[in-house]
This record gives sequence, C-alpha cells and structure tokens, in this order.
Amino acid sequence: MIKQFVRTSLLSCASIAVLAGCGITESITESASATGTQTKGVPKNIIMVVADGMGPAYTTAYRNYVDDPSTPEVETVVFDEILVGNASTYPARVSGYVTDSAAAATALATGVKSYNGAIGVDVNKQPVNSVMHHAKSKGMRTGLAVTSQIVHATPASYIAHNESRKNYNEIAEDFFDVRVEGKFVADVMLGGGTSYFERDDRDILAQFIDAGYEYADSYNRLASVPAGSNVLGLFAPVALPAVLDDKRKNRLEYLTQHAIKHLENDNGFFLLVEASQVDWAGHANDIASAMAEMHDLALTMEYLRDYVKANPDTLVILTADHSTGGLTIGANGDYRWSPEHLKSMSASVMTIALEMANEDNPGEFVAQKLGLSLSEEELATLDSVSNQDDETRFMAVKTFLDTKTNTGWTTGGHTGVDVEVFAFGSGYQSFTGQIDNTDIAKTIFSFIDKKQPVIIDSDSNKVSEKVSTNIELTSDEDDDGLCDFKEDWRCN
Ligand SMILES: [Zn+2]
Repeated sequence: MIKQFVRTSLLSCASIAVLAGCGITESITESASATGTQTKGVPKNIIMVVADGMGPAYTTAYRNYVDDPSTPEVETVVFDEILVGNASTYPARVSGYVTDSAAAATALATGVKSYNGAIGVDVNKQPVNSVMHHAKSKGMRTGLAVTSQIVHATPASYIAHNESRKNYNEIAEDFFDVRVEGKFVADVMLGGGTSYFERDDRDILAQFIDAGYEYADSYNRLASVPAGSNVLGLFAPVALPAVLDDKRKNRLEYLTQHAIKHLENDNGFFLLVEASQVDWAGHANDIASAMAEMHDLALTMEYLRDYVKANPDTLVILTADHSTGGLTIGANGDYRWSPEHLKSMSASVMTIALEMANEDNPGEFVAQKLGLSLSEEELATLDSVSNQDDETRFMAVKTFLDTKTNTGWTTGGHTGVDVEVFAFGSGYQSFTGQIDNTDIAKTIFSFIDKKQPVIIDSDSNKVSEKVSTNIELTSDEDDDGLCDFKEDWRCN
C-alpha cells in the first residue's frame, strides 16, 4: 500500500470572505489508497467537546464526588471508559508555556498555535481557517452548543477571526459576515449572548432571522423547532446561568441533543460542544460549581456514548483547553477530601452569597441552601460576613466549602499542565498517546478530507483542484490499513 502525504490548501482565498485579508490553513492530508475511497475509521460525523479548564485533577475529583462511599472501591465514571491519551497545551512561543482559552481554542480549531488572546488568527494576526470552516466547505452541516455566550473564546475560534477575544461585538459580526463559499459557517448555534447579537448599532439577530434561521430564546422553545432547521438559540443576555442555578440541571446535554437533531444529514456534520463554565468555577476557586459543571459534562458524555453506540459512524473527541485554578484533592498537609458536603446544594456559591445579604438569619439561610446542618460556630462565622460586600461574602462561603471538603487551589488563573484526551467512535484511535493540542485539529482536517473521494492521476501527484503540491511518498509494507499512531514505529 502506498501512503501519500499531500499538503493541501484547504480553502482558497476567494472561497472565504473574511474581514481582514486572507489566510490559508494548511494541513497534512493522508490519502489512504490510490482510489481514495473512504477508509476504515473515517467518521461521517465529528463531535468535538471542549471542557474549558478541565485539568486532570477535575476528572479525578469528579470520580470521587460521585463515588458511593458504602462500597470498598471508587466506582469508575464515563471519563474512565473513554480516556485515550494526553495533550500538551502550550501557546505560541511569544506567550510562553501557559495558554489562555483563546490561543488554545485557536490551536484546537485550526491546528495553528497563536498568542494568548488570539481568535482564529496566527501570531501575525492573519486569519486561519478552522475545521468548522473546512467541514462547511465539504458540504457537512455544522454547529455549536456551549454554556458561555457563543462569542466566547472557544466557540469564537471555530468561526471568527479577531486579534482579541475581548472584541465580542466584532466577533458576533463575524458569525454573520464570515462565509464559506457564500454559506454561513454554523447552521446551529446554541448558548448565551443576546446582548451581542441584538444591538442598537446592528441587529445581527434580525439578520439571521431574515436569512432563514429559526430563533429560540428559551430551552422549551428550542424543543419545538422542527428537526433539520438552521437555528440560533440564545438563552441569556451573556452566559447561561451556572448549572447549580439553572432550571435544567442537564442543560449541556439538552443543548447537545437538540443540536444533533438539527445537524443530522447524509453528508455528516461537525459539532462543537463546550462545557464552558468548568473554567469559570476554576477561576473563582469554587469547588461546588466545578463539580456541578463536571456533572453536566458527564451527562453529556453519557448521552454521546449512547449516541455513538446507535451511530457508530460518529467520532467524539473530548479534551480541555488547559487546567484552571491549580485544583488539588486534599490540601494543607491533610490527607482528606470530603466531597459529600457538595452534594445537596440548591444554588451556586455566588447566588447564595448574593442572597444571604437580604436574610434575617444569614447563617441558617446558607446552611439550608448548602443542604448541610452546621454548628453554632459555623453559623456565627457566616452571620458575621452578611453585612460585607458581595466579594467578601462570596469568599466566605467558598472558603467555608474549601475547608469542609479540604480542597486546595494555587491560582485564580490557568496552569500549564497537559490535559487528558478522550475519544470514542469511528477513528478514535488517531488520538491515542501523547499528542499536542494542534494534532487534534490536524486529524479532524484529514478526516474531513477523506470523507470525499480523492482522485489521483497515474503520476500520483495530481489530486484535485484544491490540492496544491504533493509533498512526500512513502511505502508501507503493512497491508492491514492505516497506522493510527502519529509515529509509524508504534505500529510495527
Ligand atoms: Zn479561563
């Protein structure tokens, strides 16, 4: 069997309208055979799940959090079933070793490392195209389902091009203005963010409605949109509520199910899902929200696991963009972690901290919202902060839970540790072992390319109009098919 490595210009400059110049993303296309028909392990549908901020300590903490303490073992969870490897997350050299969500999302979306703050642009601030642009260029349906505002760093990097993640209004304009061969980049967009789309200076929401998109402004309204529609679903002015405060405790699973309902078609689809608020819990050093957001993600992964069982031509990848907060399971030299104190909460720490100021018995109010019976001393401690400002009350309640659970944190920002990679379904083997975050995008690009027959002439160097040059030819003695590992020696 001959393996051909072909450097492909994914989208021509003319084929995509971008606001500032034209960038061409390149990726390695591995053509499996001279006929170029679909190879084994090439998925029809690709679902990329990003858990923002979910370093390895979060998945371990979650396993402990849902553990049944009456049994001798710690039961495994969905993440344990699907783990395949580990990814490095460092940004472009100019930003050092610790990435932000924008540079990491740009890497995951485009395969190009950039500086912290970059949205779909390289270190020279030139636009680079994402796997979502590429999927659209190949006739796939495309979408996203997130719990942040949809213009936040991770979803933005799959659609927009901007030198700064902070330019939310410009990014929202890109959602309408950036086109792939005249088509919108995303057919389905679910999350928060009406304030960026329904503005006095430009009503992008109205533009999408005029362009034929169904609009849903509530979870329940979303359920009534006919399957196969193009949908803009914006359920909050900015981000969705924290899951502990939301009416739907499975909101990400719900949005994911509905996105898939609208995306399924014969040509396949690409869907980006983001558990956006794991990161925000990490920044706030809030273990209660961290575990609650992880639970919403776990429900989503269980749903996707079942979806792939019924639709084995689908690939699901889950990773984090980085870790947040320096979470530790156990702290201060004490070999104890007590997540059971987090299991009966009926509101987020932030909401409890805001509302306790209006209560006659703030300590009792906090105890009731936490679902815990507290000592007189603990109640008095909470009573004593009720007249303080919002920030002080928040810190008091969250520190109270840190002490109860013996949770540690090292930073209010990100850390540079590698993150786990999870994958299952068609082609999952391509993500095993130690990889880099850019490898995930490169593999998705190659899968999308392989979905369409590639025509190679008798000289083995002309592939199609969109392929510029033939880079390398190697022979492979192995007749079993593609080597799924990055380095060939691992398959010998
Ligand atoms: Zn963050």
